[in-house]
Amino acid sequence: MAVKGLGEYDDQNVFARILRGEIPCKKIYEDEWALAFHDISPQAPIHVLVIPKGKWISVADFSSHGSTDEVAGFWRVVAHVAKKLGLWESGYRLVANMGEHGGQEVPHFHVHLFGGRPLGRMLE
Ligand code: C5P
Repeated sequence: MAVKGLGEYDDQNVFARILRGEIPCKKIYEDEWALAFHDISPQAPIHVLVIPKGKWISVADFSSHGSTDEVAGFWRVVAHVAKKLGLWESGYRLVANMGEHGGQEVPHFHVHLFGGRPLGRMLE
């Protein structure tokens, strides 16, 4: 697959390797648009990562250059996973770190889903 959007996508980033099955993950859900799995270093009782299948680095890349089906498919997986984990009633938090100031460590767009306890106003 060609690199999509702006910037250079690193095919060796850890989420690319997880998508290729080269590194294991604790999978919760997968379809043609996205993969959801438990974060390896959970910061809340429930800490899930949802990643699109495409080679996107930032939300700007993803939402500007992804197809409507791809963007909708991704967000449907986010909502589906929250429901599957029983979080619709209690609530949960979505976070997407972007770039240096956002503290993004893995250069493949992803959303963190936190839940399982009251989370207060902000996470550190
Ligand atoms: O948003 P950011 O890029 O900082 O988050 C990356 C996340 O990926 C971290 O929470 C880290 O624990 C997680 N991770 C993972 N499995 C790996 C490598 C990183 O769940 N193999």
